[in-house]
Amino acid sequence: MNNLSARSLTAAYILALCVVAVMSFASHWTLNGVLRAHEGAASVVNVSGRQRMFSQRISSLAAQYALGDLNVRADLVTAIDQFEAAHQRLRSGDDALKLPAPTSTRLFDIYFTGSPSLDELVRVYVADARTVAAMKPGDQGSQPALSRLFAAARSPLLTRLNEVVSAHQQTSERQLETLARIQIGSLGVVLITLLAEALGIFRPMVGRIVRYTRELVRMATTDPLTGGLNRRSFTERGLAELERARRYDRATSILMIDIDRFKSINDSYGHSGGDAVLKELVAHLHARIRPSDILGRIGGEEFAIVLAETDLAGAEIAAERIRQDVALLNVPLETASVRFTVSIGAAQFMRQATTLKPAMDRADRALYQAKAAGRNRVVVSAEPSVDGTQDLSPGCSDGLAVERRGTVASAP
Ligand code: GH3
Ligand code: MG
Ligand code: MG
Repeated sequence: MNNLSARSLTAAYILALCVVAVMSFASHWTLNGVLRAHEGAASVVNVSGRQRMFSQRISSLAAQYALGDLNVRADLVTAIDQFEAAHQRLRSGDDALKLPAPTSTRLFDIYFTGSPSLDELVRVYVADARTVAAMKPGDQGSQPALSRLFAAARSPLLTRLNEVVSAHQQTSERQLETLARIQIGSLGVVLITLLAEALGIFRPMVGRIVRYTRELVRMATTDPLTGGLNRRSFTERGLAELERARRYDRATSILMIDIDRFKSINDSYGHSGGDAVLKELVAHLHARIRPSDILGRIGGEEFAIVLAETDLAGAEIAAERIRQDVALLNVPLETASVRFTVSIGAAQFMRQATTLKPAMDRADRALYQAKAAGRNRVVVSAEPSVDGTQDLSPGCSDGLAVERRGTVASAP
């Protein structure tokens, strides 16, 4: 992941987070606004309902008073005051009661510009009610005011108050619809953002992480020149094979392979010629060994192969085949082609072996004998016990050493 693309992916990720945050905030804000509008509408419906009740009460008390019941005068005046005060709150709004001012065109029209406007009706109604309350019961002068009170309370005032209620209810419903649309819209934007984030940011990011992790694992486990296992991963895989062999009580062997006089190849054909030989040898070995065998480059021109399910006799056959095949190889270089040979030391792991080292050491010593005997040959380690199941080499824990002559397998 280069710096630029990592930075742009991070920027895109932050941008996507911001979009999600803004949409969440917008959704929260819209919900809050509509909740407030709903509270306001509920409050208006409640107060307007009470106004209708007051108007009926005022008419009824005024009639009782005009007929001579002096006891109701105080109630009449209180009802008029309450009616008037509530109207003031409805026409101007009241934060404490969560009453909104009539700002919509329709409400403004009902309250102030309609003919007759609610404001005007209330003013006249209150004035008539106060006129009645100010006169003595039975006073004929209160008759016109009383008649207007009854007429207004029956129809125009009630109608106007009902209109206020229905206008608020409609506004509230419209706001609810708007909220639903905004909520669906912001949910859609959030989902699209998350999808874009998943496809445009996480998918390529995870793809890169997987690719680079694979590359890192490959670099950590393989030899860059030949593509074979490096010493570390050869050891890991070899130990795993040993464990498997131990569990099923199977024979396992190892070959140590070293190119003969490799230095002279480098001297004659240059380092690149030597490299070509190394690559060719690994490709050749990979093609010859079984999939269960483990090949690793453990030194400059030294290789090891753990042969699964193979005893010492089998290892000798495999080593001899490899030696002969390699001797026939012809590696093409830029200006010439080169032939080379290998020497091989073979040893068998003891059945309960838990480390590679003892058998590797024995195979190494056998390899050294092959070199000493003239190169291009296979030497099988003399050190394992007769039945091949016990490692009786001097370096091993079970101690008792049994000498066996190294086998010089062949030399052309
Ligand atoms: P012997 O038959 O005794 O094994 O002789 P040799 O020349 O093969 O062994 P020696 O240890 O003297 O030389 C090994 C050479 O391998 C020396 C070193 O420069 C060369 N070498 C090690 N790694 C590489 C590599 O990756 N590429 C190349 N081209 N040469 C390498
Ligand atoms: Mg060598
Ligand atoms: Mg060597």
